Amino acid sequence: MDQKAESGMSRGNSNCTGTVVFLGPPGAGKGTQARLLARYLQIPHISTGDIFRENVGRGTPLGLLAKVFMDRGELVSDDVVNEMVRQRFRDPDCGKGFLLDGYPRTRAQAETLKEMLQHRGCESPVVVNLGVSYTEVVKRLSGRRICPICQRTYNLVSQPPRNDSACDDDGASLEQRPDDREEAIRERLASYDAQTAPLIEYYKKEGRFYEVNADRSPEQITDELMRVFDR
Ligand code: AMP
Repeated sequence: MDQKAESGMSRGNSNCTGTVVFLGPPGAGKGTQARLLARYLQIPHISTGDIFRENVGRGTPLGLLAKVFMDRGELVSDDVVNEMVRQRFRDPDCGKGFLLDGYPRTRAQAETLKEMLQHRGCESPVVVNLGVSYTEVVKRLSGRRICPICQRTYNLVSQPPRNDSACDDDGASLEQRPDDREEAIRERLASYDAQTAPLIEYYKKEGRFYEVNADRSPEQITDELMRVFDR
């Protein structure tokens, strides 16, 4: 990790110990790694995808609006996502920083995030890009199954449940996310290529950028991330 990124978690306003952004295509393991790292750094994990799914589950107006885009594998509009994040930042647990997973995903979102951080007196984020091959992405996403009760994630090939398609912890029938179907995966990768991948160059220019090879096992990736943020 470059020197700037290393020191990024402690610089800036004393009220803002750090912002971390996870970039990477769907299936890179952002959710798993972000959850672990946020716990380790003791900052909230903010996943825009999780917030949308939670709203879909509760049938809120935001959820009904987002579901149409999500099921097709398309991005929800910038205005809706930016406003949702702006509101989340007002929660008391965000005072010392946060780890963003799945946001920003477009140049317009990155610009809005920049303004929001400046407004809070925070420096630009430390950005971690989880790079992974698309062959691996398709393998991971098409085999992904989730427990609807405890949200534990399995992969039918690499991390199968002990018992057919039931959760090891609570026996619930595992489910496939609608956007993990093959057609939606293709659409998500196309949106990633067109709208999100350009953020890699955008954030490289900002300087606090770190590349991780996410083709490896989850344990190897976690080890590397924790070693880096330990410093
Ligand atoms: P994720 O769990 O991060 O893969 O997000 C699932 C879906 O939620 C995406 O395919 C989009 O439809 C929507 N979504 C999540 N985050 C964003 C974002 N930052 N901008 C636009 N759409 C988003």
